[in-house]
Amino acid sequence: MPATTPHATRLAPSPTGALHLGNARTFVVNWILARRHGWSVLLRIEDLDGPRVKPEALEQTLHVLDWLGLDWDRGPIVQSEDLEPHAQAMDQLARSAWAYPCNLSRTEIAAAASAPNAGDAPVPITTRPRQLQPARFDDRQTNWRFATPERDIRIDDTFAGRVTINPAKDAGDFVIWTKRGTPAYQLAVVVDDARQGITHVVRGDDLLPSAARQVLLYEALGLGPIPTYTHLPLVLGPDGRRLAKRHGDTRLTAYQQQGVPVERVLGLLAHWSIPEFPRRPIDLPEFAQRLQLDTMPREPVTCTAEDDAWLLGRS
Ligand code: GLU
Repeated sequence: MPATTPHATRLAPSPTGALHLGNARTFVVNWILARRHGWSVLLRIEDLDGPRVKPEALEQTLHVLDWLGLDWDRGPIVQSEDLEPHAQAMDQLARSAWAYPCNLSRTEIAAAASAPNAGDAPVPITTRPRQLQPARFDDRQTNWRFATPERDIRIDDTFAGRVTINPAKDAGDFVIWTKRGTPAYQLAVVVDDARQGITHVVRGDDLLPSAARQVLLYEALGLGPIPTYTHLPLVLGPDGRRLAKRHGDTRLTAYQQQGVPVERVLGLLAHWSIPEFPRRPIDLPEFAQRLQLDTMPREPVTCTAEDDAWLLGRS
């Protein structure tokens, strides 16, 4: 019998803002799929975006996941605690001429591309050196970009379906290492998912374009297997923008502090995820039993004022 890869997924919160109802929906669905299919669950705290994670933010994230009833088999692993594998991956990319240092800001690149004298002189629309040479990753305090090949990438997403994305058109030569001395999101996620044996990635569909960039990095680094992707629609506010602070306090900790029972929160997430499911309290086992990926609404979910009032027991 061929050896089978053990299946594993991850919950990957960024502790930059407290978890809100939108994050909760993705995490609950991810966790239910994992428990149903026997994937092990890793908790990875993705703290590379800002200052180092504060212990309170980490505690709060763990506490909220626990309140929802979610558990995990490995972790928490704090992403910033071991960046050597990412630096090694950078070295590999630089040596194989897939990466180059570049300190132009996005604004400078945009300005160069639309310079009024564009007809007079060659304008660096792309920041890539004309001839990419194998290099050493010897400067960690500069931005490094990926030399994105001009190719369509096909993602067979278990929820979003077959999607074709061209990262060169979509993102160009995206940054993979930042001058803060840390890997950028795309590289961090690929190196971590690969070394942590992640086979199933479930997350918000705002990251679908990123999946294509990540596939290119897997290939350039010779890593694999590329995970199976499941990108779920986001939860939006009534104005159609992604749920955020401007829509009021939809942080789970805020509901918890106001005494909202977790079964009500799960009930609202179930109402958004299971066709015909009315707003009513539900526990995690019943939610897990009723949820079907193939009948989940394909459209983004809108979190309405009525949803909020119902959670707070005002309707
Ligand atoms: N940490 C990211 C977020 O909270 C998730 C990244 C990923 O799942 O690849 O949006």
